[in-house]
Amino acid sequence: MIPPLLEVRSLRKHFPVRGGIFKRAVGHVYAVDGVSFELRPGETLGLVGESGCGKSTLGRAILRLYDLTSGDVVFMGQNISRMSQRDLMPARRQMSMIFQDPFSSLNPRMTVADIIQAPLRAHGIGSRSERDKKTAEILDIVGLRTAAANRYPHEFSGGQRQRIGIARALIVNPKLVVADEPVSALDVSIQAQVINLMVDLKKRFHLTYVFIAHNLSVVEYISTQVAVMYLGRIMEKTSSRELYRNPRHPYTQALMASIPIADPKQRSKKAGLAGEIPSPMHPPPGCVFQTRCPLAEERCRREIPALRNIGAGGEEHWSACHLTEKAAQTLDQRS
Ligand code: SF4
Repeated sequence: MIPPLLEVRSLRKHFPVRGGIFKRAVGHVYAVDGVSFELRPGETLGLVGESGCGKSTLGRAILRLYDLTSGDVVFMGQNISRMSQRDLMPARRQMSMIFQDPFSSLNPRMTVADIIQAPLRAHGIGSRSERDKKTAEILDIVGLRTAAANRYPHEFSGGQRQRIGIARALIVNPKLVVADEPVSALDVSIQAQVINLMVDLKKRFHLTYVFIAHNLSVVEYISTQVAVMYLGRIMEKTSSRELYRNPRHPYTQALMASIPIADPKQRSKKAGLAGEIPSPMHPPPGCVFQTRCPLAEERCRREIPALRNIGAGGEEHWSACHLTEKAAQTLDQRS
């Protein structure tokens, strides 16, 4: 079997909340709370959940943009969890990030060429003329004219700006790209174009993606596997095909039911999500989804459900629910 490009083991990222005149820690935000997964070369993990579920923090922690509270990130066989920023540099060259907001993630005072070349300069790659040549090539690859290099971000549309952000991420030939809600800020008509571009680039450069989104419908096309997150934990994880065909966790089922149906005459018989996501400073005891789960019972309020492999026929299908079997029956009755 091909070894994983990325292994995340029991990763935790807790942010201290400080108060009082001495700015002592008075609590913690449990942003990511014990996440594990593996990603092999060429795979795309869709990381999905509502705002505040910890998916963006997880993406940044994987790239070590945050120090980890505990747990491990192993990238290309090397444990980078506690490396200094200096020792991280060679691994950093193989990792890139595409940011959510193409309007604020590009410096308005820099030309497109300077923006795209920033990672090359940071890693000391190439002479000025070599960097210019690479910039012209990558602009062409992402579907922008070479003349764009001398212009400024405000001269471009949202979709074009995200293409600039993608060019910046790919200029160092990374192996792993973490895309943090790369299409959320774009019009629906532009979203498909950017996702298609990312699919093409993945094939062309043999990329591996962690693709973060709050909407299950966005990740379906691009992902080989999907992990559904809630309050810092993975609730369900399996192949993309299996998840959309056979969602087993009540939270995933509620997210699916929340996807708008194009035909206004059709109404979903399934229950969507009710209520608000609890504060990650005070996650509920037991199952973190118990305050919104239609199936919750006494046990759910006491015991944290383990992430169990419930897949059949050799297929891995992980679900963190005491009542996964009952949830599947409930879904069958509704559909
Ligand atoms: Fe719902 Fe209980 Fe399952 Fe949590 S463990 S998802 S509360 S049924």
